[in-house]
Amino acid sequence: MIGTRAAIALIAALAVLAAGPAAARGEAGAQAPAAATARAVPGRVTVVLAHPDDELTMAPALAALAREGARVELAYATLGDAGPGVSGLAPGKALGEARYREALCAAAALGAGSVASLDRGDGRLGIAAHQPGSPARALRDDLAAWLGETDLILTWGPDGGYGHADHRMVSAIITEIVQALPAARRARLLYVAIPAGRLPPVPEMAPWATTDPALLTETIAYTPADLEAARAAAMCHATQFDAATRAGMMALLDATMWQGKVHFRPAF
Ligand SMILES: [Zn+2]
Repeated sequence: MIGTRAAIALIAALAVLAAGPAAARGEAGAQAPAAATARAVPGRVTVVLAHPDDELTMAPALAALAREGARVELAYATLGDAGPGVSGLAPGKALGEARYREALCAAAALGAGSVASLDRGDGRLGIAAHQPGSPARALRDDLAAWLGETDLILTWGPDGGYGHADHRMVSAIITEIVQALPAARRARLLYVAIPAGRLPPVPEMAPWATTDPALLTETIAYTPADLEAARAAAMCHATQFDAATRAGMMALLDATMWQGKVHFRPAF
């Protein structure tokens, strides 16, 4: 998700934040969205993402939803079989299986009720997307058939975080499906986002997109226990990040872009 060479810069950033967490929070807090949305706990939450570890962009929110009683389902469009990260594994089946096990581990840490992998090929969703038989077309059919009744759908925004084509395609495809539904059957669809001005200060996250805080009208607040669950989920992704990065990543995101709430933009 963040990039495999992030560890050193991330640790440096954590050291800076540890020296002045109150200032960091107060400064960025002034840019927070004015209206945090009060919400009822949804019964069923469907999280549609591209790769195992994508859930880390919203992990403490998922832990909060599960703790509050929602059934949280994680759906991954691919197994992440093209992303060896720090594992030394070659792209392919064994890597995909390892990453699926990491997704199961993360889901358990977050209290998610189920994990589905649609296995449409890591890195392939943007290829000839309009053509019959393309991975994107197949994913659209998968998701339309699989989605069923749900109350809330969480996914990438159109930016795909840092522009990854698989992330963008997952966001576009789920939006395409939901926008076609009549209002009575249309789940709430939210795009995860980073408020402008709160990008974590690591070089590897410089390419990540930010969103005007005024557009981020939905937030999901989390507790310290939820953040700890998120940290446990991050620890699962051993193929993707070294141990120090996994251990420190959630604290960094909490201190910078989240500050107690994961931010979302409603699709409609
Ligand atoms: Zn990804």
